[in-house]
Amino acid sequence: MKNHKYIFIVGGVMSGVGKGIACASIGKILQSRGFRVNPIKIDPYLNVDAGTMNPKEHGEVFVLESGLECDQDMGNYERFMDVALHEENYMTNGMVFKTVIDRERSLGYNGRCVEPLFHIVEESLARIHASVKKSEADITLVEIGGTVGEYQNALFVEAARTMKLRNPEDVIFVLVSYLPIPHMVGEMKTKPTQYAIRTMNTYGVNPDIIIARAERPLDDQRKRKIADFGNIPYENIISAPDVEMIYDVPLNFDKDGLSDIILSLLHMKGKLKSDMLPWRKMVQKAKKAEDEVTIALIGKYFKTGDYFLSDVYISVIESLKHAAYLIDCKPKFEWIDSLDYEEDPSLVSTLSSYDGILVPGGFGSRGIEGKIQAIRYVREKKIPYFGLCYGMQLALVEYARNEMGFADAHTTEVHRKTSHPVIDILPEQVENLRSGNYGASMRLGVYPAVLVKGTIAYHAYSHATQGRWSPAQSSENEFRIKERHRHRYEVNPEYVTQFEKNGVMFSGVSPDRVLMEIMELPQETHPFFVATQFHPEFTGSLLHPHPLFTEFIRVASERRKSKKK
Ligand code: GLN
Repeated sequence: MKNHKYIFIVGGVMSGVGKGIACASIGKILQSRGFRVNPIKIDPYLNVDAGTMNPKEHGEVFVLESGLECDQDMGNYERFMDVALHEENYMTNGMVFKTVIDRERSLGYNGRCVEPLFHIVEESLARIHASVKKSEADITLVEIGGTVGEYQNALFVEAARTMKLRNPEDVIFVLVSYLPIPHMVGEMKTKPTQYAIRTMNTYGVNPDIIIARAERPLDDQRKRKIADFGNIPYENIISAPDVEMIYDVPLNFDKDGLSDIILSLLHMKGKLKSDMLPWRKMVQKAKKAEDEVTIALIGKYFKTGDYFLSDVYISVIESLKHAAYLIDCKPKFEWIDSLDYEEDPSLVSTLSSYDGILVPGGFGSRGIEGKIQAIRYVREKKIPYFGLCYGMQLALVEYARNEMGFADAHTTEVHRKTSHPVIDILPEQVENLRSGNYGASMRLGVYPAVLVKGTIAYHAYSHATQGRWSPAQSSENEFRIKERHRHRYEVNPEYVTQFEKNGVMFSGVSPDRVLMEIMELPQETHPFFVATQFHPEFTGSLLHPHPLFTEFIRVASERRKSKKK
């Protein structure tokens, strides 16, 4: 693409220091200078997508509109940049290798010897070009997963080098590196970053900009050291200390003039002043908020060895934060492992100390009886409840068991032979499970739903401001939404009427009225008991919080205020 600009972002020293947030923030500040930005994430694993991976291994599986299951960084990009990304914005080693090997098997290389160095590199570049074409953007950001020097991502760094060789004026490299402050030394050390730069050099590239992640800001002396060692202008070393909230990062980059540095390296001219005002206002609003709202998340993918993972539900957490900030609340979260309730059912009564309870998506049997007990408690005690996907299915299982007298009601995901399969497999999924076709085969991505007037969901969407999650649009007296999905099971159509007769409202349904997309209890019975088959957490952003999250937090915060009185 002529004159298109590329920024390759690689990590140094170790992972988990915020490369994705740095990338999303660079995207944000370039947008604020008037550019269209196209972010790409490259993941080095051999899985063709993230869909088959255990969240404990990989963190959250984020779902794009198209249904591609990918890395949570894609969610960071969407939330920071307020865009809906395409399949072309994501690639893995698995995808690239699979295409090349399939092409070779069908004689696509005309009998030539097919090799990683060249064919894999060229396929990676072809994918980047395809994404650029689709996006019609001015600048493409390519985040290469992992850290520089790893065997796994070497071919992608090689692709980046090739791109630079072919377009020297249009390509720059950003190294997001980590500077430790070991306790026994008490001083920030630059050596690991020096080695990361040297490792980049062995690939034939040098960073143009260093983002120096550390607990504290970088001092002059260390900046100078890295600049001299790395052959990088002093001003291009950006100090990126830990922040109070991730949404500070673009503001800090903006303050440090990072967009000017990038634009001058890429020989570009943008709008004279950046337009970060709406963002800045929202961050200030979030920091000023004093009214606390406490939300408990009941899940099962939290513990790994002695450590705790909250990344598994990152989109849920961020969506809750966005909603809280919008209505001037300060969110506090508690992560609860549903297995705790199975070991000691009396513990559910502790849930009354929270303002709202959320059960996110999940799979399989482990921990679900604990979730069902918790849902029963919050339904009966009228504590605001928001269920997402499995959180809706289990709410209906609970309701069928305890309100409709179907003692063994269940989802057939867990109990195939239950006499009341209130949640059952989608007809088109039967063959997938029978033949072991698990990859990218769920009901994935965006589908429309029609909202029923007079319901909480209808009210929430129709009062929402514009957002990229696509607000309710009316067509002939019908309000339609579109939301992202990831499931194999559904509300069994044979039980819909019985649920309705017993007080459940299905406030969102597929346009053909077969699939139940949102359930809720009437407000006369419960202040907020709403659950969705889809995943609203994949579509909100800081500047455009999702209306269902906002409504949930609003009611939760009211509960808190009324408790205080
Ligand atoms: N396990 C359920 C299904 O497949 C719910 C999936 C989810 O929560 N994402 O339908």
